[in-house]
Amino acid sequence: MSAQPNTSPTNRSGLESGLIPLYEVPQVQSTKPLTPGETTPSWRAAGLRFYSYNHFIRQRFRCRVQKVSVDAGFTCPNVDGTVAVGGCTFCDNRSFSPSRRLPRAGILGQIDQSIARMRRRYADCEHFLAYFQPATNTYGPLDKLQRVYAEALSHPQVVGLAIGTRSDCAGDEVLDLLAALARDTYVSVEYGMQTMHDRSLQWMNRGHDHGSFVDAVERSRGRGFEIGAHVMLGLPGESHSDMLATAREVARLQIDSVKIHNLYCVKNTKLADQVAAGEVTLMERDDYVRTVVDFLELLPPEMIVERVTGDAPPDYFIGPAWSLDKGGVRQQIDAELAARDSWQGKKWASTGA
Ligand code: SF4
Repeated sequence: MSAQPNTSPTNRSGLESGLIPLYEVPQVQSTKPLTPGETTPSWRAAGLRFYSYNHFIRQRFRCRVQKVSVDAGFTCPNVDGTVAVGGCTFCDNRSFSPSRRLPRAGILGQIDQSIARMRRRYADCEHFLAYFQPATNTYGPLDKLQRVYAEALSHPQVVGLAIGTRSDCAGDEVLDLLAALARDTYVSVEYGMQTMHDRSLQWMNRGHDHGSFVDAVERSRGRGFEIGAHVMLGLPGESHSDMLATAREVARLQIDSVKIHNLYCVKNTKLADQVAAGEVTLMERDDYVRTVVDFLELLPPEMIVERVTGDAPPDYFIGPAWSLDKGGVRQQIDAELAARDSWQGKKWASTGA
């Protein structure tokens, strides 16, 4: 680890372009006691209704730590023809083409620039996770992976890595490299699961099936890095019970963290054409809130919930409009949990998931 987190106090803040904030969570007290013999999770003891990423970060680092996005110039096998062309239906992957890529500062330069922007909102934030976010961030020669991860970790304020990737780009050599890094620092690997239903993965032109995700999770387990899954609700053709089947699968796999958001639409995608043509209807806000709460109830209490909302920059975003109100949606989710006097995992034990 390149720097030790401090314990300085923190500020509240919101979004800033290119930065990924860790949200402060409203403190809502549950009135219902745990069953006898059940250990109180620290997040419940703190008055939360789910194991928020912010709570996890505070426990893990004992201070504010923000993610800073890093573009290492990776592309995606679902775009370059290795697996498929065109990419996922919802992804504006034209930006992954080398010819369209904006000239960026090197990795250390990008981190410095992001930190400078971040400091306008979080003046006292001293520690950061380098978030390899655009495209598929384990898709490249091993020596390139080694070099870019090492460069990020050489930044004196970077205390770990978050790496977004596909399950079919997680060969054993890559996992060995990530495991080696995780011996010395915090490493989180986020696989795009999206759904457990292969017909939905085919609809989105994902280029791999659910079995590929399960295989990557099983081979990643026990290697010392955090295993995360990215899940979308509101995929066309998925019923409420289909989405909850995905929740039970996430619970069954006992991954470390999950990101949940609704299917939303950005410009220059196949999805944008489908929405414009009326072929795809995006999920309504109230339906999403109820479904995400149902989803949370089925997850194990020890699973970190990294996010429950999603959006994109407004000039790039098509809909649904309510997705841009991230704070409001977050409050509505907390209110729904409170109205039910419910919390993450309330229905987990009873399902045997
Ligand atoms: S796998 Fe990820 S980067 Fe590749 S096309 Fe799909 S969403 Fe885009």
